[in-house]
Amino acid sequence: MSNLTFNFNNKKIKNIKNPRNILGGKGANLAEMGRLGLPVPPGFTISTEVCDLFNKNKKKLPKQVLKNIQLELKSIEKLTRKKFGDLKNPLLISVRSGARISMPGMMDTILNLGLNDQTVIALTKKTLNGRFAKDSYRRFIQMYSNVVLNIEGHLFEAMIENLKLNRGVLLDTDLEESDWDELIQRFKELVKKETKKKFPQNVQEQLYGAICAVFLSWDSQRAKTYKKLNQIPDHWGTAVNIQSMVFGNMGNDCSTGVVFTRNPSTGENIFFGEYLINAQGEDVVAGTRTPQHITKKAKINAGSNEPSMEETMPKVYQALKKTLLKLEKHYKDMQDIEFTVENNKLWILQTRSGKRTAEAAIKIAVDMVKEKLITKKEAILRIDPNTLDTLLHPTLDKNVEKKIIAKGLPASPGAASGKVVFAAEEAERLNGVMQNTILVRVETSPEDIHGMYAAKGILTTRGGMTSHAAVVARGMGRPCVSGSTEIIIDYETKQFKAGNISVKEGDTITIDGANGEVMLGTVPTVQPKISKYFLTIMNWADEFRKLKIRTNSETEKDSKVAREFGAEGIGLCRTEHMFFDQERILFIRQMILSKSKEDRNNTLAKLLPHQKNDFKNIFKIMHGLPVTVRLLDPPLHEFLPKTEKEIEEVASSLHVDHKEVKDRIEELHEQNPMLGHRGCRLGISFPEIYEMQCEAIFEALVECKKEKIKSITPEIMIPLVSTDIELKILRELVNRIAGKIQKKYQTKIKYIVGTMIELPRAALQAKEISKYADFFSFGTNDLTQTTFGISRDDSGKFLNDYLNNKIFEIDPFVSLDQSGVGELIKIASSRGRETNKKLKLGICGEHGGDPKSIEFCSKIDLDYVSCSPFRVPVARLAAAQAELKK
Ligand code: ADP
Ligand code: MG
Ligand code: MG
Repeated sequence: MSNLTFNFNNKKIKNIKNPRNILGGKGANLAEMGRLGLPVPPGFTISTEVCDLFNKNKKKLPKQVLKNIQLELKSIEKLTRKKFGDLKNPLLISVRSGARISMPGMMDTILNLGLNDQTVIALTKKTLNGRFAKDSYRRFIQMYSNVVLNIEGHLFEAMIENLKLNRGVLLDTDLEESDWDELIQRFKELVKKETKKKFPQNVQEQLYGAICAVFLSWDSQRAKTYKKLNQIPDHWGTAVNIQSMVFGNMGNDCSTGVVFTRNPSTGENIFFGEYLINAQGEDVVAGTRTPQHITKKAKINAGSNEPSMEETMPKVYQALKKTLLKLEKHYKDMQDIEFTVENNKLWILQTRSGKRTAEAAIKIAVDMVKEKLITKKEAILRIDPNTLDTLLHPTLDKNVEKKIIAKGLPASPGAASGKVVFAAEEAERLNGVMQNTILVRVETSPEDIHGMYAAKGILTTRGGMTSHAAVVARGMGRPCVSGSTEIIIDYETKQFKAGNISVKEGDTITIDGANGEVMLGTVPTVQPKISKYFLTIMNWADEFRKLKIRTNSETEKDSKVAREFGAEGIGLCRTEHMFFDQERILFIRQMILSKSKEDRNNTLAKLLPHQKNDFKNIFKIMHGLPVTVRLLDPPLHEFLPKTEKEIEEVASSLHVDHKEVKDRIEELHEQNPMLGHRGCRLGISFPEIYEMQCEAIFEALVECKKEKIKSITPEIMIPLVSTDIELKILRELVNRIAGKIQKKYQTKIKYIVGTMIELPRAALQAKEISKYADFFSFGTNDLTQTTFGISRDDSGKFLNDYLNNKIFEIDPFVSLDQSGVGELIKIASSRGRETNKKLKLGICGEHGGDPKSIEFCSKIDLDYVSCSPFRVPVARLAAAQAELKK
C-alpha cells in the first residue's frame, strides 16, 4: 500500500533509488522542487504501479488506492485551507499525467477540477471575481469534456469564436462574466447532447473520471505507437499527479509562463521564455494571444513594444530568476520550467531538462564545464553523436516560406536547391557550367556516381534509408531524399509528377534531406559555421577515446573534408570508383572486352597513369597517415555499357562490331553478381588488373617520396577472401610488384597487406588466413548481407515487416547485428590474433559511423573504425562515449 500514492512532501521519496520510475518524470521533479524549498502548489502522485493494478483490475481503481486518494486530498486541504467540493472555500485541483519520460499521446492536463454549478458560485463570492470564476469553470468543462468524455474540442472553440464575433471582440480576455455564463450554459447543453448525460456535478466523480482517463491514455492508440517506436515497455505505466490549482487568470497581477534557463536553439546563457498576463495553463503556447518576453533584454532584441515581465512584475521576476538559477545548479542541466503567478506570488509547476538543438547542446555542455557545473566526461556523454550531422550540412533558411510538393525519407541530411536533371551526364554537364542541379532518379546505381557528385542533391522515388542513393549520398555528404513514392518520373518526356504538379527538366526544386521534404523553387540555404564549441567538444572527445577513426574515401575532396574533420587515415579507398570517370570508363570497357591478355595489358597500361595520379593526390592529402586501398572488387559487368548508344561508342572505339560487344555483355551476365565473379576472384582470374593497381599505388608512393611529402603507409586490401590460399597467392602478387618497383627506383617501400573479412567462412578461417594478413578490415556491409543471406538492395521489400514483427529491432544494415555478425567479428578477431599478435583490426562500412556499432567495436578492442567523411566527428564523439561507458 505504501507505494500507491506519494505526497509531494513525503520524506520517503528522497530514499527512492529511481524516483522517475515510480513517480514519473513530472511527479519526481515536483517532489524534488518541494525539497529544494521552491514554491510548488501542494499535491500528490499516484504511482506508476497503480497503472498496472488498474489494468489488472478491469480498468478500475483498486479500493486501497481510492482510500489513499481521500487521505492525500485531506492533507492538501489542510495545507491550502480549502476543501474539495466545499460551498464556501472550494479546493480546485489539476490532474496531470506523467510517465518516466515525457511522451506524446498521454492525457492532456485537466485544470480547475472541482468546479460545478455550486462551487463556481462559492469561488465567485470568495474571490469577488466572477469573471475569473466563470472563466475557470468554462475551461474546466472544455478540458474535461474533451479528454474524459471524448467530445471534440473544436465544438467548444467554435462557440467561443461565435460569441466573440457577436460581441465584436477579438480576445478571450475581452469577454465578460455574463458572456462566460452564457457559454457555460451552451457547453453543458452540448455535453448533454453528445453524451446523453449531464455534465458531472459530483466532484468525486469528476476526480475518478480524470484519474481513470490518465491510465486509459497509457494504452491509447497514439501512446501505443510511440511506445512501439521508442521501445518503451508496457509495464512502465504512467503516474498521475493531483495538484492544488494556482491561478494565473485572476487579474492583471497574475500570469502564466514558460521559461528555459538558456536559449535552447543557440545555447546562449540567457533566459529564454514567454509569459501572458491574466491567463491560465497552455494559453502561452496556444497562440491565441501573443505572449510577452520575460527579460527586458530579450524584449529589446526582439524589437517588441510589449513590456517584459522584468518590467511589469519586477519583484516576481527577481524571484523567478533566483529559482531558475537554483534549478539549473541543482539539476546541472538546462531546465525548461512552467510557472504561474497568482496575485504577485510565484509558483513553479514543472521543471525538466529542456530539449535543444545540436548547436545548443554543444554550447551548453562546453559552457557548463567552464562554469564547473559538470565535468568534461559528463559534457561528452551529454551530446547525442547522431545530431552532429545536422551541424555540418547546409540547412534551409527557416525564415523563408516553402512550397512542399512531396515527401520522402530523410536519407542524407542537408538541404539543396537546383535544376531538375534526370541523368548523371546532365548533372555533370551543368556542373561544368556552374549550374546547381538536383539529380532525380527512380533509383541510382554505381554508374550514376559522377552525376551524384556533380549534383547538389539527390532525389529518388524508390529505395530506403540504406539504398544506394542514400548510402552514397551520406558518404559524399550530399543531401538526399529517397523513396519519395508520390513522385512519378517519366524519363522519356523528362518530367516528373507530384500529385497534379508537373516538374520539367530544368525547373528548380529544393530538397531537405533532414526531413525528407521536396519543395518547388529555391529555398535559400545557410552554410553552417563550425563553432569553436564544436571543436572543443571534439578535442575533449579525442582525449578520452582509444579507437582510431578513419574515413572511407576515394576522392581528393572527400579526403580533404575527412581530414579536416579529424580522420586519422583512410580505412577504405574503393579503387573502382575511380574508374567511373567519363574518360576512364571507356578504357575499362575496352579492358573488359579484350579477348587476349595482351589487349588487356595494353588498355591497363592506359589506365595506370590515371590510377597513379588518383593515388598520389589522395596520398598527398593523407600525408603521414595510413591509407587502406582495396583492389578492384565489383563484378566487371557493372562497368559495361548499357544503352545502345554506349555500346556503339565502345564498339567503334575498339574497332569491333556492335554484336561482338553485345555478345560479351551477354557472356559476362551473372545470375547473382553479389556472389559471382568479383573481389579477389577477379585478381585470381585476371592478375594483370591487380598488378596494374599495385603498380599505380607504389609508383605514386615513390613520386610522393621524391616530392618530399611525408609518407603514408599503404595498406593493400584484398577483397572477398574466403580461403587462406587466395590471400597467399595475391599477397605474393603484391610483394612481387613491390619488389619490381623497389628495384626500378632503387628505393625502399613500406607497405602492408591484408584482407577484408566479409564472408562468414573467412571469419571462421581467420586463424589460417591471418598467416598472410597484416590486417583485417571487417567489411560489415557485405558481412551482414552474407551472414543473413539478405541482399541489402532488396531488403526494402520486407524489412518493415521484420521491424514491425520485432524480428529485427533495428535495420542490421544501419546498426551492426551484434549477436550474429558481431559474433563472427569477435571470432575472427580472436582467431586472427592467435596467429598474428600484431594483426591490425578495423571495420569499414556504414556501421563505422553508427554510435551503437562503434561502442561494440570499442568493447571488443578493435583498433579503428572507418566511416564516411561527414560521420568522422560523430565517430570521434561516439568512440569517446564508448570508452567512458566501459
Ligand atoms: P504538459 O505536460 O502538457 O505541459 P502539464 O500538466 O504540465 O502538461 O500542464 C498543462 C498546463 O497547465 C501547464 O501550463 C501547467 O503549468 C498548467 N498547470 C498544471 N497544473 C497546474 C496547477 N496546479 N495550477 C496551475 N496551472 C497548472
Ligand atoms: Mg500538453
Ligand atoms: Mg507541462
